[in-house]
Amino acid sequence: MKITDIRFGMLRVPLKTPFKTALRTVEVVEDVVVMIDTDDGRIGYGEAPATAVITGDTHGSIIDAIRHYIAPRLVGQDVSELNRITQLIQSSVEKNTSAKAAVEIAVYDLWGQLYGAPLYKLLGGGDPVITTDITISVDYIDKMVADSLRAVERGFESLKIKVGKDIGVDIERVKAIHAAVDGRALLRLDANQGWTAKQAVHALNTLESAGVKLELVEQPVKARDIEGMRYVTERVHTPVMADESVFGPLEVLDLIRMRAADIINIKLMKTGGISNAIRTADIAALHGVECMMGCMLETSISVSAAVHVAVAKSSVITRVDLDGPSLCLTNPVAGGVIFNESEISVTDAPGLGIREIHGLKEIHA
Ligand code: MG
Repeated sequence: MKITDIRFGMLRVPLKTPFKTALRTVEVVEDVVVMIDTDDGRIGYGEAPATAVITGDTHGSIIDAIRHYIAPRLVGQDVSELNRITQLIQSSVEKNTSAKAAVEIAVYDLWGQLYGAPLYKLLGGGDPVITTDITISVDYIDKMVADSLRAVERGFESLKIKVGKDIGVDIERVKAIHAAVDGRALLRLDANQGWTAKQAVHALNTLESAGVKLELVEQPVKARDIEGMRYVTERVHTPVMADESVFGPLEVLDLIRMRAADIINIKLMKTGGISNAIRTADIAALHGVECMMGCMLETSISVSAAVHVAVAKSSVITRVDLDGPSLCLTNPVAGGVIFNESEISVTDAPGLGIREIHGLKEIHA
């Protein structure tokens, strides 16, 4: 099975409710879809969102990096040479992790199709059912409490609460949600770099002494402030998870060496795809550090790939934050991973099992 062409499309899916973090507000998921054609007629699908404030990738940069740097190296390659292809992708251009991720996802999809097996089985197997949390956007306290209660009613047992705005209000937000859900859901906080190290320690100590038990706090400080992250990790009981501070295997090694965080959030858009997500998980596992599998605002094309990795690496990826598809108003993809609120299950369809993408607008060069 040889790669003959790489094509692009745009996929727009409205969100059920605006996605608000300390960094941005988004109302529509608008992602680049990558389609890799092969000489036997099969198509591999990948996807990448623009996350300018996190990875630096934009729609234009994703398409340009693939069209001019990655695609020319891949045309003519045999899909069975997976390691060679991922190496070609990773060395094609510096950074541009979302562009690399979109292409790798499509290549792994084809690799699964080539051998007629779902991707997670080729990655080592696992229990094909996982449970995700859901994001509660940062907002007025009453709105966040109402959103949290609605999520619990929908069956979500873990809530990822976005904070990181005004520290005093943040503490009140979390207290109010904790009181409202009353033990019916685990609470994960994501400050999205919104606090200083001292503010984070103050907020967490205040919450801890008020009896608010948190499963973890994510990225309390600026991405580059690894010292600050260590400062927080050393001083609070709540486990600290690194997100924007850690992209791939090299950052994970540094972070572990410094004992700067307790948990790592792996996202395909940060690692540059599946090959380095696996490396990152393996490095963490070697050091006894657990991981979360997360995603950006993505639909069920690229999130399916993350699901397959999470299933295959579930011994170290102990937490799942793959709520992209459940935040979307509709699911544009008919495929092999079934997203049903908090429960995600994988069928035995080969590769990612994507049969059809509704509303995809092809982009012509
Ligand atoms: Mg995060």
